[in-house]
Amino acid sequence: MLTVIKFGGSSVSDAAKIDNAARIAKDIYEKGEEVVIVVSAQGDMTDVLKSKSTEICASPDVRELDALLSTGEEISVSLMAMKLISLGIPAVSLCGWQAGILTGGEHGSAKIKRIFTERLETELAKGRVPVVAGFQGIDEKEDITTIGRGGSDTTAAALAAALSADLCVIYTDVAGVLSADPDDVPEAKLNKEIGYGEMLEMAASGAGVLHDRSVQIAEKNRLKLKVASSFEKGGGTLVTDTEIEGNCVYGVTRDCNAALLTASGGAPGEMLAALSEKGVKADMITCFGETVCFAVPETQAESAERVLKEVLGNGAKASADKSVSKLSLVGCGLSGEPDIPARFFSRLEKEGVPVFLISSGEIRISALIPEKDAVKAVKAIHGEFFGKRE
Ligand code: ASP
Ligand code: MG
Repeated sequence: MLTVIKFGGSSVSDAAKIDNAARIAKDIYEKGEEVVIVVSAQGDMTDVLKSKSTEICASPDVRELDALLSTGEEISVSLMAMKLISLGIPAVSLCGWQAGILTGGEHGSAKIKRIFTERLETELAKGRVPVVAGFQGIDEKEDITTIGRGGSDTTAAALAAALSADLCVIYTDVAGVLSADPDDVPEAKLNKEIGYGEMLEMAASGAGVLHDRSVQIAEKNRLKLKVASSFEKGGGTLVTDTEIEGNCVYGVTRDCNAALLTASGGAPGEMLAALSEKGVKADMITCFGETVCFAVPETQAESAERVLKEVLGNGAKASADKSVSKLSLVGCGLSGEPDIPARFFSRLEKEGVPVFLISSGEIRISALIPEKDAVKAVKAIHGEFFGKRE
């Protein structure tokens, strides 16, 4: 049995937490199983490193920024390996390149292309526990790359897939995949199981618990992926195939990285083609006569506005409003149950929350709402669908 386990920044933020995480690995190892560990940078180290770079210059060179940010995980792997060795477990720390992680060259958002598993297999065959740096790899030019914020989950899933692991466990500071962010809704409930598709929607709609690309890898490779707390025993959520039929709700999310883009003076296809060429992700596309509205990530709002003005030329209008959030209800079989969207929107009306854009499908209903109402809306929709009706 081979298990890949990953510890996020909050699970390795100080010596006591590293001790706790190392003991989880030790327990698995002492059962005679093989284990590979992936770790993130400690606490908010990646943000600290990022702000160091902006002390030097406003927009640092992307290659050098990756070289800097990758050091956070390199501190964690060595500390974790030292701890394990001190507990009598043979461990070896490996940076991304030592673990054979080959990526594309897109600094800051590189995709994992291949994992050359020889080194990992050799270490496992020697009875060692490899401790691999998450979030990083090396490209064909032998430059260090990072794979996107929150990417250590993706490193873990990719390693598990490449090694044909029996299980990949993402250890975090919450009990698993909850029905809402417990900071917004303390009574949020734990999902014991969730389908790959629904988990992907949760992750892509703002649930911070798993990096969306890790779920895609798990689905593609039919990997058994689990999310569990590193501080409480038992519990956790298994991400797997769910029942073929039936309907249920899994959670409410809010994504504050959203902006409302309103444009006129062109056709939707032309606008979307221009946005896509610049890598802007637009969704919730709606047409009112001559006006087209989209939701775009807030971080891409300015560039989206600029692109549309350029491509549409004279007389065109494009403006982005960043004061919005995307509220989503994720479940399965939602469109087969007309009562669900009816309750979702009626509840928002009752709370006096205006809705600017809507999208609804089989596994997600989303509404673009004012950012100032987002927490109130999460609480209300959670109350509506997960018990506690006010
Ligand atoms: N340390 C990186 C970040 O903060 C990667 C991760 O935590 O998964 O984004
Ligand atoms: Mg994370």
